[in-house]
Order: sequence, then structure tokens, then C-alpha cells
Amino acid sequence: MPENSRQTTIIAAQVHETESWQAQLSNAITSAPDLLRELNIPQSYLEGALAGANEFAIRVPMAFVQRMEKGNIHDPLLRQVLPLAEETERPPKGFSLDPLAENTTNTHAGIIHKYNGRVLLITNGTCAVNCRYCFRRHFPYADNRLNTEEWDHALDYIRSRPDINEVILSGGDPLTNNDQRLFALISAIENIPHISRLRIHTRLPIVIPDRISQALVNRLANSSLTIVTVIHANHANEIDEHVANALQRLHSAGIHIFNQSVLLKGVNDNSGSLIALSERLFTCHVIPYYLHLLDPVVGAHHFDVNEETAQSLVTEILKHLPGFLVPKLVREIAGEASKTPVVHPISPN
Ligand SMILES: *Cc1c(COP(=O)(O)O)cnc(C)c1O
Ligand code: SF4
Repeated sequence: MPENSRQTTIIAAQVHETESWQAQLSNAITSAPDLLRELNIPQSYLEGALAGANEFAIRVPMAFVQRMEKGNIHDPLLRQVLPLAEETERPPKGFSLDPLAENTTNTHAGIIHKYNGRVLLITNGTCAVNCRYCFRRHFPYADNRLNTEEWDHALDYIRSRPDINEVILSGGDPLTNNDQRLFALISAIENIPHISRLRIHTRLPIVIPDRISQALVNRLANSSLTIVTVIHANHANEIDEHVANALQRLHSAGIHIFNQSVLLKGVNDNSGSLIALSERLFTCHVIPYYLHLLDPVVGAHHFDVNEETAQSLVTEILKHLPGFLVPKLVREIAGEASKTPVVHPISPN
């Protein structure tokens, strides 16, 4: 590379590091050719990527792309975000557009109240990253982008239900809201006497760790509510130094951090990956919470790991990890009162 162009590259990298989280969010890669070019993936993957992106858009922030190995189509991070031709294949029996029947439980705009004591608030439809296996890939987000009045109605619902003590901010991703909107919502929830816990389900600390700004951390640390964050990482490679620092900031502010993963073929469906993930999380003060079986959503069947394989993976990692680093293997069944544990058999020997 000629000296002057190397200079340009270095400057570009420096600019990227100082980008605000909002700029990183809007500068995410959203096209198949860009993603393939950035990672030196052969053009033979383009047709499948375009077809998949037609059903569910590509979205991947550069901070996440930078953790992938160039030229490796099997990279466990790339596989989570690159559409493959399999997405548009005819889905196997049992795969549907709305596997969790959220279209029927979502009776108040912005609210999903399925479980006792806790309610899920859909703060917006936007995610920082579009995960190909997401059960919300066909979710009617447009109906859940709340204006202020609808937000008030959703809060009225929570106020009218003294049996609810925990509000879960979800989405989309709640941390794609700006601080002004987010802090106003937190204040409104703090003013509901029967709410004691606020949970934030977010992938931002992983995909754009700069989102965990000091202003955000301070607001959460000063809340009258107990704050729990549930992050979402599926592979140890997702947690680089920037992510570790963001998690350290949350931890230092006294915020509980748990992780949920999805068991995904070709990403983390071997005991070595699962063990490395748990160990990496714990060094960052994060407790593994759930390991979800894939929700059978159309377009994601190539990620499916069957229940038997999942159970034997958990049996295997139990032999290597302390119990507190073994996530609970669960699946979500529409209409059930909680996530459904998938019990692993005791090995006969
Ligand atoms: C998963 C989920 C929750 C949270 O369940 P926990 O087992 O408490 O983590 C709450 N509401 C809905 C609708 C959910 O899907
Ligand atoms: S961040 Fe979560 S909600 Fe958003 S696409 Fe990924 S899995 Fe789905």
C-alpha cells in the first residue's frame, strides 16, 4: 500500500472511533454488497444475501463488523447478520411468521403482558443490529412506534395493575432511544408506586458499546428502581475490549447484568463455544441467564438445533463449568405462563 493511502486509512479508523453512538447507529452497514466487500466474502454469496435482505433488512454496526475475521464465511458473528439463500427456502413444518403469537397478546399498543408480575414495554421498533434468527423478523413494528399519547396509555395500563412490580423495556432495542426520551420514560416508571424493578433488554452494550455513556450510567445509578440489564451475546468473540469496558461501567454503577443467548447452528452449537462464552461473560461481571432454543420463525430454520442436541450440550457444559455459569435452557411456547425449561436428562453413567 502506498504511504499516503495508508495514512488515509489510519485517519479513517481514528475518525470512526470518535463517532458518537448515534452516528455509529446511522452509519451501520445496510447493504449486502457493502457487507461482503467489508469482509472479503466471495460474490457467490451476493444473490442469497440480497434475497434474504428483501424479507428482513441487513443492519450491522461497524463496531461489530470489526470483530469478524475477514474472508471467513463461517465467522460466528458474520453468520448472525449475513442473510443466506436458506432464508428464502420453503420453511419446514412448524415454522411460522409469528411463532410466539405476539399479534394476539399485544392488545394494548406497546405492551406485551404475558407473565405474572412483569410487563414488557415495546419502546420502539428499531434495533442497532438485525439478527437473522430474530423471532421479530416479521413483527409489525410500525404499529409499535409509540407517540407520546400512546406512551401515556401504555403507562396508564401499568398504573392500573398493582400486581405488576417489574417493567421490562424492550423493542426493538430500548437503548436506540435517545437519552431525553429514555430518561423521561424511566422517570414516569419511577413514579408508579408498585414498580420496584426496571429491566432493560438490550443488545447495544455488545454491538455499539459507546451507547453506555457516562450520562446513561449515571441516570441508571441514580434511579430509585433496582436496575437489571439483560444483554444478548451468543459467542465469546462478540466481547472485545470496548464491550468489556462498557460492561465495567454498568457494573461499577451497581447495575445487575445478565446475558441471554440463542442456541444457533453454526454459531455456538458446540460445548467449547458455550463454555468460552460463559467464562468470558463472567470476567465482565455478567451472569449467563437463558440459552434459548430457536423460535421457529420463517427464514431462520437453518439455525435450528434440535432439543436432543441442545440437552446433550448442556449436559456436557455442566461437567466443565460451575453451576452459576450454566445458562437455563428454555424455549418459549405461546400461551405459557413463563419460558419453558428444557430439562436435560441425567446421564446414565
Ligand atoms: C421473556 C419475557 C419476559 C421475561 O421473562 P423472565 O423469565 O422473567 O426473564 C417477560 N415478558 C415477556 C412477554 C417475555 O417474552
Ligand atoms: S437485537 Fe434482539 S430484537 Fe433486535 S434483531 Fe437482534 S435478536 Fe431481534
